[in-house]
Amino acid sequence: MLESLKEQVLEANLELARLRLALFTWGNASGIDRERGIVAIKPSGVPYEIMKAEDIVLVSLDGSILEGTRRPSSDLPTHLALFRAFESIGGVVHTHSTYATAWAQAGMDIPAEGTTHADHFFGSIPCTRLLSDDEIAQSYEANTGAVIVETFRMRGIDPSGMPAVLVRSHGPFTWGTDATDAVHNAAVLEEVARIALLSRTIGSPQPMQQRLLEKHFFRKHGPGAYYGQR
Ligand SMILES: [Zn+2]
Repeated sequence: MLESLKEQVLEANLELARLRLALFTWGNASGIDRERGIVAIKPSGVPYEIMKAEDIVLVSLDGSILEGTRRPSSDLPTHLALFRAFESIGGVVHTHSTYATAWAQAGMDIPAEGTTHADHFFGSIPCTRLLSDDEIAQSYEANTGAVIVETFRMRGIDPSGMPAVLVRSHGPFTWGTDATDAVHNAAVLEEVARIALLSRTIGSPQPMQQRLLEKHFFRKHGPGAYYGQR
């Protein structure tokens, strides 16, 4: 079932290792068939070197396993919370990539300070609040998804213009139109996080002009986009 979705999700997971966004089996990528409401996700703890399309697990949006002999990634409930709340997204990625995780551990948003950031992220990349002791004790992975959704709702952020979040004291989640696009955004997030840190070692970066942020974001996204080939 859904062979091409499983192949795409497999490739997305392998790409996380190739791009050095995930050591060992730390990263995970998923994709969804919206028409059928079926999510394909990485199996838990299978080394990338031996991972095959048949290891990819198919689950419903409420988490029931539909196909696969492996256990799904332990972060599955976080992925499902994002797919349920953010209806425009088609893929989710989680990594502990170094620079993005450093910002998550500092508990800081990554402010928009240059056009590399603005080409992909419309404003500051948000960092969530800490989870409470109760949220950690019970349904931890689902509560990680809930705190991401809460951050976007409370701050009025549109997830289609901000395909990334930093979970405080943890690391980044990204999303996109599909699993491949979510991996792309994970790589761009890592680069933006690296640049933002480096600029702080040189001087005192300032928020970029709102007009420049809008120019770069809407050049690539939305109805007025004109970047790239038609
Ligand atoms: Zn994690």
